Amino acid sequence: MKNLVLLGCTGSIGTSTIRVAEDLPDRIRLVGLAAGANTRLIAEQTLRHRPEVICVADSSDAKELAATLGTVTRVVSGGDGLLELATLPSADIVLIAIVGTAGLLPALAAIRAGKDIAVASKEILVMAGEIVMNEARKYGVRVLAVDSEHSAIFQCLQERPAESVRRLWLTASGGPFRKTPKEEFHAITVERALKHPSWVMGPKITIDSATLFNKGLEMIEARWLFDIEMARVEVVVHPQSVVHSMVEFVDGSILAQLSTPDMCLPIQYALTYPDRVESERVQTNLAKLGTLTFEEPDVDRFPSLALARSAGEVGGTLPAVLNAANEVAVEAFCGGKINFLQITETVRRAMERHATVRNPSLEEILEADNWARTTALNGAG
Ligand code: NDP
Repeated sequence: MKNLVLLGCTGSIGTSTIRVAEDLPDRIRLVGLAAGANTRLIAEQTLRHRPEVICVADSSDAKELAATLGTVTRVVSGGDGLLELATLPSADIVLIAIVGTAGLLPALAAIRAGKDIAVASKEILVMAGEIVMNEARKYGVRVLAVDSEHSAIFQCLQERPAESVRRLWLTASGGPFRKTPKEEFHAITVERALKHPSWVMGPKITIDSATLFNKGLEMIEARWLFDIEMARVEVVVHPQSVVHSMVEFVDGSILAQLSTPDMCLPIQYALTYPDRVESERVQTNLAKLGTLTFEEPDVDRFPSLALARSAGEVGGTLPAVLNAANEVAVEAFCGGKINFLQITETVRRAMERHATVRNPSLEEILEADNWARTTALNGAG
């Protein structure tokens, strides 16, 4: 039995994680849940699973919940509440699926409290991959991938060292605009960008999949998770999203992990690792799927990939700047303030204006994140 704390329980990954926990009641017990503002859903989840502690972003929401939920579950709030959950004495593993950067400090707190972490929030490793992985080594805990691509690589690698790898191949669906001519990009609407061809996800990551920034963030995430330099992290477009990613070994052999797209699978693997546990949820019929295709990403139409590669190569505070500027730009796009093409331009401008700090401390990373948000906002306004 693993005691699980789930941060971001009301989102797309969060609700899939609850489904996995409900599939495996003998293996997973939910001891802590955290949400942002969706008090209705976290209240329902709490009544069903009776966790020890829950957290919501706002303190007045917390008070209301405490009054309605009774005494079995304690209700906390805000950043301090997240830290309390991340370090809950009874927790074995903390799954972080909060959109944005709010998961970083809880991730570090969980590691320092000796908990394994399962990471969906890629922002954590993009911003502070080196610090997070060093802390995990120091405290002897695991950092398990929830992202389907990184879970696939993890499953293929079987913890073999980076020396045995020629390249990691992240697959990308190509998003909804894989075939859209560049001349039409400026007119792409939010509604169109929110329609992903193969995955149903939260709005931020769906827009990131349309610009391919999602894949860029994943390249940096892979660089830290698997301790491999950016030059050996490649992207190939695979529109069917059945091959979730691949490892090409030094002898030329390529191992891939396949399944129909369903986030419950990588979530379950992260939560039950190293065991494989029976589940009927994911069924893959290759004959029915028929054809799996692969193509080069178009770096001219999707310059986000080159920006992410360069941020990953330079390192220091630059990936945090890329991440924060992108977050602000996506928000501005969704709010109708900038067009689709300006998302990438906003990120590029912030990166160009940033004086990168090498080997940054956590404080310097958070400062760079702050700086990028202000700079990007000024640029987008
Ligand atoms: P959603 O937008 O669906 O969900 C976000 C979650 O974060 C919600 O539970 C939200 O709560 C919560 N949240 C937001 N702010 C706070 C806060 N300050 N404190 C506590 N909780 C907060 O996002 P996704 O589930 O799609 O994505 C979550 C993360 O996982 C992202 O980093 C994404 O990149 C990554 N990921 C997602 C995949 C997917 O398939 N969706 C695949 C791989 C990675 P509320 O709704 O209550 O406000």
